[in-house]
Amino acid sequence: MRYPESLLKLARALSRLPGIGPKTAQKLALFLAFHKEVAEELKEGLAALRDLGVCRVCGNLAEGELCPICQDEGRDRALLAVVETVADLYALERSGEFSGVYHVLGGALNPLEGVGPKDLNLESLWPRLQEVREVILATSMTVEGEATALFLAEELKKRGVKATRLAYGLPVGGSLEYVDEVTLGRALEGRKPL
Ligand SMILES: [Zn+2]
Repeated sequence: MRYPESLLKLARALSRLPGIGPKTAQKLALFLAFHKEVAEELKEGLAALRDLGVCRVCGNLAEGELCPICQDEGRDRALLAVVETVADLYALERSGEFSGVYHVLGGALNPLEGVGPKDLNLESLWPRLQEVREVILATSMTVEGEATALFLAEELKKRGVKATRLAYGLPVGGSLEYVDEVTLGRALEGRKPL
């Protein structure tokens, strides 16, 4: 017995999602075949994604030129947190402890995988530093995240900008995305100069 081609095609697409193996993908495709209203909702959600772009200032997701954070007049533009991913940005936002603005690198330095400074969203970071008093290096507690923080600390020193690093209580080897709000809030408060 073989699944219909349309179902297999959908399962193949679903299996490309993180955390979804081929078996789960087939199960989901089968579910959608019998729940057309869910399929319709998914279709609408996916269509809306087309209008979602990247903020030209910070690299966060944005529905227009600027993301909601960059548009917010109440945010402290002199305090800038550098994060690896948009998921990390949302993690810091959830902590409710950060009133500054962000810069999303789109990854971390990883020489073994050939990821160098040129592959990160850095060109647009330097001009932003003119109005910045402190940069919080909120990259992951992984080897790559630490290497990225050290690299940035050097670059910031050259440019005369104060750099601090999240430290207190964060698990070594982890991404910010999975840290709870309270711990992240404390890590922000207890940040150390680099
Ligand atoms: Zn932005």
